[in-house]
This record gives sequence, C-alpha cells and structure tokens, in this order.
Amino acid sequence: MPRYDLHCHSTHSDGLLAPAAVVARAALRGVDVLALTDHDEVSGLAEALEAAAGSGITFVCGAELSVSWEGVTIHVVGLGIDPENAALATGLETVRSGRTKRARRIADALAAAGIRGAYEGAMKYVTSERLVSRTHFARYLVEAGHAGAVKDVFKRYLTRGKPGYVAHEWATLTQAVGWIHAAGGQAVIAHPGRYDVTATRMRRLLAEFRDEGGDAIEVLSSSHTPAQSVEFAAHARAFGLRASCGSDWHGPDESWLDLGSMPDLPAGVVPVWKDW
Ligand code: AMP
Ligand code: MN
Ligand code: MN
Ligand code: MN
Repeated sequence: MPRYDLHCHSTHSDGLLAPAAVVARAALRGVDVLALTDHDEVSGLAEALEAAAGSGITFVCGAELSVSWEGVTIHVVGLGIDPENAALATGLETVRSGRTKRARRIADALAAAGIRGAYEGAMKYVTSERLVSRTHFARYLVEAGHAGAVKDVFKRYLTRGKPGYVAHEWATLTQAVGWIHAAGGQAVIAHPGRYDVTATRMRRLLAEFRDEGGDAIEVLSSSHTPAQSVEFAAHARAFGLRASCGSDWHGPDESWLDLGSMPDLPAGVVPVWKDW
C-alpha cells in the first residue's frame, strides 16, 4: 500500500523548511504521495512540484483554508487544486490580508498583558511576508522566555480566553468549499478531532459540509488519538464522506509525528484518493 501524507507545511506559511526541503524529507521518509498544504497559500507549490519531479514522489497540490463556522475556527484542506485558479487565488488573498491586521491586534492584546514588542518579534520568525500566523508569535514568545515550548505558548497565551487571543472572521465554509471546487480540488475537513465542539455540533458541521459538497474528512491526523481515528472513520462512513490522512507536519522538533508516519486507513472507509 503506498504511503500517503496529505497535510504538511513549509516556510510559505508556518512550517520550518522550504517546500523543496519538505519534499526531500518526505522522500527520505518513504512517502509515496505527498500534498503540501500551507495555510491560505499556494505560493510554495511550484517549488514543491519541481522538487518532486524525479524524486519518486507523486506530488499533490494543496492548501489549508481558514474558515469561521458558527464562531469556531475550522480548517479545510483542498487537495488536487490548480494553484493558478483565479477564484482560489483571490479568495486566499482576502483571507491572508485579514491575517496581517489580526497580527497587529494580537500584538496589542499581548502588550496589554505586559508583553511588549511581540509584533516585531513575531516578524523575525515570519518566513513569507504574505503569511503571519500565531505560530510565529509562539516561536518569538518561546525565545523571549514566556514559555518553554510552542505548545505551551498556545495554552497560556494564544487560545480562546487567554490574554493574546483575538477573535477573527475567516472565510465561510461555503466560500472555502467553493474556491477549492472552482480550482478542481477536493475539500477535506482537517483534524476534526481538534475542534472544541459538542458531538451534536460536530454532526451538524459534517452534515453542513457534506450538503455544501464537501468531499472528505481527515480520519488520520497527528492531532487524533487512536480512539478519535475510529470515531471519525465511523463519521466518514455515516456521512458518506471520504477519508484522508495527514501528519500536519510543521518542522523537526515541533511536530508530534514526522512526515509519512501515519498508519493505514481503518477498514471500511473510502480513501480520498480512490479516483486519483
Ligand atoms: P493561525 O492560523 O494563525 O490561527 O495559527 C494556527 C496554527 O497554530 C496551526 O496551524 C498550528 O500550526 C498552530 N497551533 C494551533 N494550536 C496549537 C497548539 N495548541 N500547539 C501548537 N501549535 C498550535
Ligand atoms: Mn500551522
Ligand atoms: Mn490546521
Ligand atoms: Mn495544518
């Protein structure tokens, strides 16, 4: 069975390696089919495609879109997208411009909590001026000694209810699915186990996503426990959605699971790659 990893990041969003280096590492790790899925961005795909040629890797163009759904931030991965598609490019540009304004507000919120210079500090970690994320703030806050590790910064400062958290409106679910489909891709709910929603709301999200034409959910993700993989495999079957698999890798020493380290999909689900 070929090894699939359909979710990871590069320096074009909040990953630590350039696209070509991500592809090289995936090849070393035995990945057969790889998708690069930078946040709200497709600019790394050309380099990744070029690096994949001759590497033995089948490369799939992807992106991870930020969505607001009933006040919750949801991520929707697009797989098999055309990076040149105008509707997708325009949509992503709008979402990215919101990020820059939000970064100022995050810095203001942190300043109010006594942490100064966070905007400039985060900018030192930004690797694409088009894309600033909370991860860049987190890396700076570790450097400045406010926490020992990125995940601790999130817990203490950057999640809902914490001093550096600011609410933000991303794309709608309808827009995200629409842009991905316009670009010829499949829409996949990323790491569903990570959202802080009740079981009832999760079913509502999946029903709405399916009704919008959504294609799949990530059943296997580094964010999921084995029990959650079983749970979301059952949801995939119940909602008639396909199943995807991605490490959500961001860089050495910063991610739970390395590229290509996912087990096979559980039995009884239809893989997102069935018709590839
Ligand atoms: P943003 O899109 O700017 O809100 O940043 C979201 C990114 O922050 C995610 O893609 C992860 O890379 C990272 N992130 C979110 N929550 C956590 C967490 N609890 N620990 C570590 N990284 C996180
Ligand atoms: Mn990320
Ligand atoms: Mn995500
Ligand atoms: Mn991701």
